[in-house]
Amino acid sequence: MEPIVIIGSGLAGYTLARELRKLDKSVPLVIITADDGRYYSKPLLSNALAQGKTADQLAGALAPAMAEQINAEVLVYSRVEEIDPVACNVRVAQRVIAYSKLVLALGADPVRPQLTGDAVESVMSVNDLTDYARFRERIIDAKHITILGGGLIGCEFANDLSHAGHQVDIVHPAPHPLDRLLPEAAAQDLQRALAEAGVTWHLGHTATAVSHAAAGYAVTLNDGTVITADAVLAAIGLRPRVLLAQAAGIRTARGIQVNRLLETSAAGVYALGDCAEVAGHVLPYVLPLMAQARVLAATLAGTPTEVVYPAMPVIVKTPACPIAVATVAEGMAGSWQVSCVEDGVCVLFQDGQQGLLGFALTGKQAGQRQTLAKQLPPLLL
Ligand SMILES: Cc1cc2nc3c(=O)[nH]c(=O)nc-3n(C[C@H](O)[C@H](O)[C@H](O)COP(=O)(O)OP(=O)(O)OC[C@H]3O[C@@H](n4cnc5c(N)ncnc54)[C@H](O)[C@@H]3O)c2cc1C
Repeated sequence: MEPIVIIGSGLAGYTLARELRKLDKSVPLVIITADDGRYYSKPLLSNALAQGKTADQLAGALAPAMAEQINAEVLVYSRVEEIDPVACNVRVAQRVIAYSKLVLALGADPVRPQLTGDAVESVMSVNDLTDYARFRERIIDAKHITILGGGLIGCEFANDLSHAGHQVDIVHPAPHPLDRLLPEAAAQDLQRALAEAGVTWHLGHTATAVSHAAAGYAVTLNDGTVITADAVLAAIGLRPRVLLAQAAGIRTARGIQVNRLLETSAAGVYALGDCAEVAGHVLPYVLPLMAQARVLAATLAGTPTEVVYPAMPVIVKTPACPIAVATVAEGMAGSWQVSCVEDGVCVLFQDGQQGLLGFALTGKQAGQRQTLAKQLPPLLL
């Protein structure tokens, strides 16, 4: 019997394997991963510098221990170069591995900023343990750090780095940070709190060049301002890894398109996690991938099960200004209203009948997220 093959050993791949083993202890399982296959929780990466944590301290079980735990073969440092959904196999270097079912848990790539200058290659991003180790080593003696992008990951790193004693500049094109997630009143609260923590904002600007300077780097902005920095971190977004699927003729859009069974346009090939676009939703967070892993495990174990998403608020790990946000789907009728401003703000998105569709909570108000989340309609019923 050919094995079920999972490509990717991130939270999506390993969570699926664990869920599958709860339902089927013996089906042959192979996990193929381009990295070292260590288990780790990626959200820790933007919260660990101030605690002085090394990459090794953040990592959990090594690949052999994971293989034993989930009763699977784990092939590390093995990049899948081609999928053949007709012959039902994948190619890794010279080896061809046949599958009964294939799962793509490929993750997403950090978007590279469009920059000129002779130090573009020195701009770093942190999207896995190896990146974290490299970044931590680079900044150990760095005083000034410039972050390109004031979204979720940029703001979390800004908070962590300033807490760790670095001077942080953030360059962000919109007038407020986290503008894709937060209404203005909540974003302003975050902006103020991080400024009080020592972060310097360059809002409404983009970086155009990063060059070597006498000491460190010169980051030039679109209005001609030059910021000097000892290290530059890009956090301008993630793009689902779709190329492998695309080359195999599997349908992709923003992500690898799957239906609610998480099946792609190729029969017997599934996708989950950051690489997947599930019934039109690309949700690169942990709660969605866990919901996906549970139902896909059931499907692979013989009971086809569709994914259901309850409302899943996102927690922004900025201790200077804790935030919980439940976003609203684009085009949803209603409006954001500030409903309280005490020890933080509480901004609610309500429809014409005062039904709650979304919220953004900052500071102490973030504590009511569970109560409010119960009032929200499910994201995918
Ligand atoms: C800094 C940071 C902080 C975050 N904080 C939060 C948070 O607080 N809360 C939250 O909900 N979410 C957070 N997220 C998002 C969350 O971590 C991700 O949604 C999740 O970890 C994605 O897991 P994944 O398994 O889909 O992808 P990944 O972890 O990227 O795993 C992809 C895997 O695929 C492998 N791979 C890729 N291509 C190939 C190939 N061709 N052949 C073989 N292997 C391949 C890779 O080696 C890797 O093992 C954060 C993300 C980042 C970057």
